[in-house]
Amino acid sequence: MQHDVKEHDVKQRGEVDRHGRQTTTVTVGNALEVFLAFAVGCTLWAALRRLRGRQITAFRCPACARPTSRAYPRCRHCGAPVS
Ligand SMILES: [Zn+2]
Repeated sequence: MQHDVKEHDVKQRGEVDRHGRQTTTVTVGNALEVFLAFAVGCTLWAALRRLRGRQITAFRCPACARPTSRAYPRCRHCGAPVS
């Protein structure tokens, strides 16, 4: 009688342990997935921002068609006036 109870106890504990481990694994997996999605989102956002910033700052000279900045009154490459 006592032996049966002990065996049942051990079996139950083992099941609980296994369940706990599974839950932990799933939680870690979800956290990793969320972290990866966050990292990918951040990378995409940074790339988009960089691309947009380049599009705004990059301005092609009408005379030589090379990228220059509208911050300068004249093209840095050929000296043509940039308006
Ligand atoms: Zn130019």
